[in-house]
Amino acid sequence: MTKKERMQAVTERLKQVYPEAVCALHYTHDYELLFATRLSAQCTDARVNIVTEKLFSDFPTLESFAEASEEEIAEDIRSCGLFRTKARDLHACAVMLLAEYGGRVPDTMEELLRLPGVGRKTANLILGDIFGKPAIVCDTHCIRLSNRLGFVRDEKDPVKVEKALRGLVTPAESSDFCHRLVLFGREHCTARAPRCTDCPLADICPSFGKMR
Ligand code: SF4
Repeated sequence: MTKKERMQAVTERLKQVYPEAVCALHYTHDYELLFATRLSAQCTDARVNIVTEKLFSDFPTLESFAEASEEEIAEDIRSCGLFRTKARDLHACAVMLLAEYGGRVPDTMEELLRLPGVGRKTANLILGDIFGKPAIVCDTHCIRLSNRLGFVRDEKDPVKVEKALRGLVTPAESSDFCHRLVLFGREHCTARAPRCTDCPLADICPSFGKMR
């Protein structure tokens, strides 16, 4: 089986297991997904959703984020970790979106990467989920599973994994594929204890039974 064939098989299988390929982060406005993703660095999605419920209620518009002080924003996101840096990024990002993009989140990788605190992972998530563009969200699950499923070999660099996956996954499927990979990584192929024996990818995974 070639890598492309395996990718096709994995994509189809994950589609059956997880018909709903949704982002776990809660948001209403485009910039809220951007901010929630920034908050998710070194924090769980569940914790971010708890934090953003109050945060997005206290600061219901982009303008309110821009007008708030970093300390006021930080107060709401204390339990997220790295809260001072994240508060600074959210505030600066709101100011920049209003000043340079008319209050809209831009739809190109280049422009997204200019925003404070936004890296390729966040930019890809926005491109895929907000704009429906091809996107590879290369997070810890994506990197671990790409190695275990044999799409890359001993590769930890997210940019290299992203590049490898772009050559294998159908562009239109890429964003949903990454969401499903996260669901699968949490439920079946966890970092510490992959459940190979009842894994839906057992017959096509080159790492079956080898991870202990
Ligand atoms: Fe992960 Fe095991 Fe499934 Fe392979 S067979 S994807 S290593 S749980």
